[in-house]
Amino acid sequence: MTPDRIAAALSELAELGLARRRHVLDGAQGARVSLDGRACLSFASNDYLGLAGHADVARAAIAAIERVGVGAGAAHLLTGHHRLHHDLETRLAGFVGLPAALLFSTGYMASLGVLPALLDRHAEVFEDRLNHASLIDGAILARARLTRYPHLDLDWLDRKLGESTASTRLIATDTVFSMDGDLAPVPALLELAEKHDAWLYLDDAHGFGVLGDQGRGILEHAGLASPPRRLIYLATLGKAAGVAGAFVAGSTELVEWLVNRARTWIYTTAQPPLLAAAVGASLDLIAGEPWRRRHLRALIARFRAGVADLPWPSPVSDTPIQPLLVGTSQAAVALAEGLRARAILAPAIRPPTVPHGEARLRVSLSAAHTPDDVDELLAALRELARG
Ligand SMILES: *Cc1c(COP(=O)(O)O)cnc(C)c1O
Repeated sequence: MTPDRIAAALSELAELGLARRRHVLDGAQGARVSLDGRACLSFASNDYLGLAGHADVARAAIAAIERVGVGAGAAHLLTGHHRLHHDLETRLAGFVGLPAALLFSTGYMASLGVLPALLDRHAEVFEDRLNHASLIDGAILARARLTRYPHLDLDWLDRKLGESTASTRLIATDTVFSMDGDLAPVPALLELAEKHDAWLYLDDAHGFGVLGDQGRGILEHAGLASPPRRLIYLATLGKAAGVAGAFVAGSTELVEWLVNRARTWIYTTAQPPLLAAAVGASLDLIAGEPWRRRHLRALIARFRAGVADLPWPSPVSDTPIQPLLVGTSQAAVALAEGLRARAILAPAIRPPTVPHGEARLRVSLSAAHTPDDVDELLAALRELARG
């Protein structure tokens, strides 16, 4: 890109309906938000449990600020590793049932740190075609050979793992696919990892807090009581947990290795410790208020029953991520704009985020919604379907 070419490329994006722009949120995240100065019913956040604007979480952050200030002041290996971080790591590891955990500033940074810490150009990474961008970018940064397998095609994966002569093999997958809402078959993937002596890296960004009766995420959901050493677990704390950041959990040796080798953890300022305090309050709510997950499941069932007679296919998803496959980018944008005109937010997801011809409306449900909110969305969709 050059300064001249950027202008031309931007107008081309606009013509194709692919230009992206920001909208400004006022006030707190929630079911009802103010976006670009307009009150809207939102199905467009990852705040699956309604915790991002929760008063207990905010109070924990405020109490921590008053005690320890705002900035961490340094990286974790200097003087930035606060007791609030340290205690939260212990608690998060216990919560997901793994020996140790390490906090990262974001989920994106975590994958950019973990994959290069374990892999080099003699390694091979196997990734589901629908994996999140951060998993792809981590593999590229590691300079490992990247083999992308067709979505959930474990026979194909088994074959390719069998052919691999790489010194280190790693299978990386989203646990809940972020644009489809379906789940990766974790026990079967673990079997393949055992069979081919590979790491299994699980990105549970959309599962943590949501999956499992206790909200412990994909490992609880899959009933993996004593996960093996080859398992690496990543969860983000900015989605269901409603705060920010991420953690990677696994064996104590793995965490020790990341402390020594994960560059996106070593060479960056630690997150403000107030965020660790906020995550602590959020964990209390995740563990202590299972009604949030039960309510969310009831909303998911209500939405699925309601979309059955709409013209857009809705792939099977039991998670809060509910896509409606519209087809072309223009049609997806038109549907999202139709909702917007009715003060309802649900984003159109277009290529390159999803494959060509699979542009969609991505509805995300939250425990913050009421059954009436879901009915309001369904009524608007029915109206728009009639044209
Ligand atoms: C959101 C997301 C991430 C990135 O996490 P951040 O903390 O927002 O950087 C990583 N993986 C998946 C699957 C995600 O959906």
